[in-house]
Amino acid sequence: MPRGDGQLSHDLIPGEKGPQDACGVFGVWAPGEDVAKLTYYGLYALQHRGQESAGIATSNGKQILVYKDMGLVSQVFDERSLSTLRGHIAVGHCRYSTTGGATWENAQPTLGGHHSGTVALAHNGNLVNSAELRELVEARGDELSDADSKIHRITDGELRRGNTTDTALVTALLAHDQESTLEAATMELLPKLRGAFCFVFMDENTLYAARDPQGLRPLVIGRLERGWVVASETAALDIVGASFVREVEPGELVTIDEDGLRTQQFAEPARKGCVFEYVYLARPDTTINGTTVHEARVEMGRTLAREHPVEADLVMPTPESGTPAAIGYAQESGIPFGQGLVKNAYVGRTFIQPSQTIRQLGIRLKLNPLKHVIKGKRLIVVDDSIVRGNTQRALVRMLREAGAAEIHVRISSPPIKWPCFFGIDFATRAELIATGLGVEEIATSLGADSLGYISHDGMVAATEQPVDQLCTACFSGIYPMELPSEDRLGKGLLELEFSPTQEAVRRP
Ligand code: SF4
Repeated sequence: MPRGDGQLSHDLIPGEKGPQDACGVFGVWAPGEDVAKLTYYGLYALQHRGQESAGIATSNGKQILVYKDMGLVSQVFDERSLSTLRGHIAVGHCRYSTTGGATWENAQPTLGGHHSGTVALAHNGNLVNSAELRELVEARGDELSDADSKIHRITDGELRRGNTTDTALVTALLAHDQESTLEAATMELLPKLRGAFCFVFMDENTLYAARDPQGLRPLVIGRLERGWVVASETAALDIVGASFVREVEPGELVTIDEDGLRTQQFAEPARKGCVFEYVYLARPDTTINGTTVHEARVEMGRTLAREHPVEADLVMPTPESGTPAAIGYAQESGIPFGQGLVKNAYVGRTFIQPSQTIRQLGIRLKLNPLKHVIKGKRLIVVDDSIVRGNTQRALVRMLREAGAAEIHVRISSPPIKWPCFFGIDFATRAELIATGLGVEEIATSLGADSLGYISHDGMVAATEQPVDQLCTACFSGIYPMELPSEDRLGKGLLELEFSPTQEAVRRP
């Protein structure tokens, strides 16, 4: 079923997806507050991070309830469903799939039965050792009996119900440890995970948050008058009126309950924050490791103007995500900034499959050129990144038809040449336009008069982060950790082993 696409500027052509993020997570511990509604608004602020499914779990101290479905946060929840989610702790999730397909079974939070209660877990990021974890699940696949002498196996629960995600493996492994407390089981399991993870999870009485040792994805802690909040981005703290306390540190497990907030380090931190969060993924009003994303993007635009100047009459963005960099380019170059395109903000939210006639309109379905602004002008069009190039090609064609005299494309990130294994779903390497073509050839392919990408160093400097504390792998090919062989990576890795209709099947 077609679903709304939120506000992502890369989704400008029907069926032409840009980089997709790997989820937003939100958790709250706040007795006396309506935690389900706080989580709803927190997820609403994080909707850009995942638009395939949404879910909230709450605990009233005795029981955990989960409500999840496919679609946007505003489509999944209404007053009625939120009113059934009662308690003083909640975790929430909005999903884009990176391991496991976009199905109801794979929606989060995931649930697992621990001997001392229930685990509800939400995950942002993507693990790179899922194959190893699956083997660990299989190795522990023996039967167990719980306190009520009920027999269950580690492959029961989410895995048996057809969940094919790395998150379900983690939930199963946490729930399986029948001797330790959940906290102790977590401290034992987390050092075994490789890749990107921000977990927000809970049992009936405690909220937990953990971040991978590289801190690839952002995760922050906020304070409410009567409680605590954990969220993927600071913008989600703002929307619920929580004040920013600090980041969850790379390699840290945070525990929140009636005794307050406690912290433990499960691994040595080795910070490698994702640079693409600054370029495109995070909201502009979010702050990551001390840098406001909007300011970083404006600075990228200024740098771009210094690195790739050109005479022109107007600097215009590809709405919305090219806007801050276009402002920076205009500031630095002295060329006026203007909006040459009007975005139809709501068309992506329709459930109606476009007819063939409408589909052929392509980019025009979402963008309409302001002809009187564009006609006869030499334009600088600023965008944050190029994936396949189809969007920019359609844009250039549309601007020429609207009468532009020249079109100079400027991009506020270097060419994307490598896949991401840490939660961002770009096109395949073969589909990435910069894999096979040089800058001149890409300019020709787009139909642009010129094309300029910001340099790697210019992008990094704009984030105000030390280069050795950033992941830039999709641009540089230098990955922040050793990766398993190709056959042990990939979105569909767990689909075969844990199919929805069968029990776990061992690999041959
Ligand atoms: S590969 Fe790119 S998108 Fe993925 S974590 Fe690294 S910088 Fe971010």
